[in-house]
Amino acid sequence: MDTRLKLQYFVTLQTLLEQRRQARFLLENPPEELASHQARFAERRRLLEAKKEELARVKAEQAALQQEVDSLHKEREHFRKQKSMVTNMRQLQAVVSELDHVEAELKTREEKLLALWQQLEALEKDVASLSQESDEERQAREQLEAAFAVQKQKAEQDLARIEARLRETQKLMGNASWEEFKKLWNSRKPTAVVPMDGDSCSACHAQLRPHLVQVVKSAAELAYCDSCRRLLYDPETVQPLVFEP
Ligand SMILES: [Zn+2]
Repeated sequence: MDTRLKLQYFVTLQTLLEQRRQARFLLENPPEELASHQARFAERRRLLEAKKEELARVKAEQAALQQEVDSLHKEREHFRKQKSMVTNMRQLQAVVSELDHVEAELKTREEKLLALWQQLEALEKDVASLSQESDEERQAREQLEAAFAVQKQKAEQDLARIEARLRETQKLMGNASWEEFKKLWNSRKPTAVVPMDGDSCSACHAQLRPHLVQVVKSAAELAYCDSCRRLLYDPETVQPLVFEP
């Protein structure tokens, strides 16, 4: 096969493979805005889970404290009855001292219970607001998701077209050249075939020997950059195949 023609096939494949890489990227990567929206959403879910855990912990603490308060109430009733039945001063003093103790215990626990109620109320409010997506948030998300769906659909169509063009090129160039390209591609992907830029390699920017520049220009044989080993071509004379749209 004529070297210039082979180069044209190689340049075509390089171009198509780069287009395929871009299409795949668009297919897998949501636009920046949607990605940051999704990150914010994930952060909110994390916060919500933390608040729910805290809520469960406070509820358990509250239930335990309520039990203590209930039994202190019973104790207080018990001592109040005793107080009404004392027969001497010593017994009265003893009961009053017990009662004072119970009252003090009750007071600290009831204060703590009240604080827990307030804490619970605030937590429940937080959980409710974190669980609910506002209308603006939902609209913004839906718009971003719709835009991504369009991007994905277009990328899928592009991918299908690119794959078809790759197959077509493979068929046109024949097996031997295809295998030759594959070898080159596997050693230098994602950039295996690069245009010469004046008298330099456009990939590694090394200046090329004048003789190499001549070989690339004449397309007498395949010529590789001395420093990066990529296949060089002259963009003035070698262009990728043009496909039907
Ligand atoms: Zn180079």
